[in-house]
Amino acid sequence: MSRPPIIDNPQAMRDLIIALQRQGKQVGLIPTMGALHAGHVSLVRKSNAECQATIVTIFVNPTQFAPHEDFQKYPRTLESDIAALSTQRVDAIFVPQNADMYPPGYSTYIEPPRVSQPLEGAFRPGHFRGVATVVLKLFNICPADVAYFGAKDYQQTLVVKKMVTDLNLPIRISVEPTMREADGLAMSSRNRYLSPEQRLQALTLSHSLQLAADLVAGGERNGAAILERMQALFDAAGITDIDYIALADPDSLAPVEEIQGPVVALIAARVGTTRLIDNRVLTP
Ligand code: AMP
Repeated sequence: MSRPPIIDNPQAMRDLIIALQRQGKQVGLIPTMGALHAGHVSLVRKSNAECQATIVTIFVNPTQFAPHEDFQKYPRTLESDIAALSTQRVDAIFVPQNADMYPPGYSTYIEPPRVSQPLEGAFRPGHFRGVATVVLKLFNICPADVAYFGAKDYQQTLVVKKMVTDLNLPIRISVEPTMREADGLAMSSRNRYLSPEQRLQALTLSHSLQLAADLVAGGERNGAAILERMQALFDAAGITDIDYIALADPDSLAPVEEIQGPVVALIAARVGTTRLIDNRVLTP
């Protein structure tokens, strides 16, 4: 494969996608913040399997970070991102400038749907307002046929799907499975911050999701009992900075106390100063 063209101009990006579609090609879009890993590449593969053209966007979106969060130190690894994408068929990489996305005086924001409120919404106020805003802007600049998102950011996929339905956006949303390291750790751009010791502690997230899945498969139906067992793994690993360990309805994210059907287990916790999230759908 070859190095994909880098486009930073929104109008040029839009023109290219429209030209591809005029050639009869379905266009797949993968929005990312860069620092790409095999999880991102799996979305590119899926797009290439389903579409005749694939566009990847790389933009560390300032409006989805709260003032105290890691926007400034979020990893920016454009050269290795380009190298990773050069192993796949990618028609273009859209890397917009901040000043083109949010020029001086920019003041329009999306009010995200209700499903944005619990969990991440409670611990990262304004996060989904920024996500919804940038995703809508990217969909307008990149009028693709399908956009691919990872289940790793479970609540984000619900927010984006609901926005697309509520606002009649002409794009299909496809949600792909979370890619994991061999030992189960969910791949994340932030994993690079973990020391070897923290890397081991971080396995508690996937281990506790596995435990929850095993408990449900074994007949446990009491949500509190499952959460208690998950919490005990975090206690044992010495992870104390936990935003949430929750069982929720897979569509509404309403808390689930008694398991009667599929339920999603979601976790956000800091290992050292690195905030990690993971989730798993549990089916009785
Ligand atoms: P990010 O660059 O972290 O904003 O993520 C860009 C896209 O990649 C989002 O749709 C994420 O859900 C997805 N993604 C991130 N990590 C993974 C993973 N481990 N497996 C699959 N998709 C992922």
